[in-house]
Amino acid sequence: MDAERFNRIANYAFQTNSYYRNRLEPGVLPPILTRDLLREHNDDILNGRPAMLTTSGSTTVPVRLGFSPSRIHAERRQEARVLDMLGGRIPLAEMVLEQTGRYAPNQLPVMASVGEQIRFLSEMRKQRAIQGFNTYATNAKSLASYFLERGRPQSWVKRLGIFSETLHEADEALVARAFPKALIWSTYSAKECGLIALRCLDQGEGWHVLDGILGIEILDNQGTPCSPGQVGRVVVTDYLNSYCPLIRYDIGDLASPGVCPCGGYSGKAFTALYGKVREAFLMPDGSRKLTYDLTLQFRTLSALHQFQVVQRSVRHFEILYRGEPGLGSTLEARFVSFLGYTPASIEVRRVNSIPRRANGKFFITWSEV
Ligand SMILES: [Zn+2]
Repeated sequence: MDAERFNRIANYAFQTNSYYRNRLEPGVLPPILTRDLLREHNDDILNGRPAMLTTSGSTTVPVRLGFSPSRIHAERRQEARVLDMLGGRIPLAEMVLEQTGRYAPNQLPVMASVGEQIRFLSEMRKQRAIQGFNTYATNAKSLASYFLERGRPQSWVKRLGIFSETLHEADEALVARAFPKALIWSTYSAKECGLIALRCLDQGEGWHVLDGILGIEILDNQGTPCSPGQVGRVVVTDYLNSYCPLIRYDIGDLASPGVCPCGGYSGKAFTALYGKVREAFLMPDGSRKLTYDLTLQFRTLSALHQFQVVQRSVRHFEILYRGEPGLGSTLEARFVSFLGYTPASIEVRRVNSIPRRANGKFFITWSEV
């Protein structure tokens, strides 16, 4: 973190905002602002100003936010910087979910079937000469599988933006094979604070933290900064947003700090980004277990087409799957071996479809606790 910029926004918040006035003390690091605290004190943190944006409530408690004009400009500059790094603006299509329900002519709802999406992309190539598209990771994977199964890699795709969901290594390779000429890129952002990092364009696993607007800390459960490679919570301080100051705000994501393996980036980096804390399971001892290994274990079952594991409470799980019947006991056994203990209940259900969440995103694992 940049001490000078941190102190500037912290002093400003102390002088102007009742929430921070009661919590900030000179010379003492401010306490972490959790999402629950933000929601509880939302009006105080907004200083009575109207909200400009409400986060979606489908995965977590919604919060209301606002941004000062200079903050909005800074975000636009940051977006322009990222676009420059990618090689400038080119015509693209998007298969996403728009909360407003309004879609631009180059956009299609991500819920559209693979067939509809392929017709849409071909139409967009004719009409708008698109050279790529943006979509969510699981959808990119579905399209990639479709093209590879038919032996038709899509070389016309020059740029492919993957958003919101974490793309695992095996899927990444699949997507790269289906779109062999594409620059595959991802950004990590949050509604509360905009762009946070750009995935390294040379080395897939690293993330370059974008400097200038946000102070980033990765903290362990005790609130101590993590050492390189250790997994911790992403905590941000927005240096510029005086409208709705967010100081040491825990976004609810997990990452590991370190130096990017590409060796060409001297700034702060994440060596791994694990997504939502809520994608990790809560263990009986209070720790969180990352679920990446689980997806690797389940992935080797060819009779399994898709799955989702939901943790209903600490010792109760539900596994939904699409695939051949009779996989229940195998899934259960592999899940227990992954967890390292036998929970009180595991309900396995074979289903015809596993829906996306209301915000359009798909999570392979989700913890309700
Ligand atoms: Zn890098």
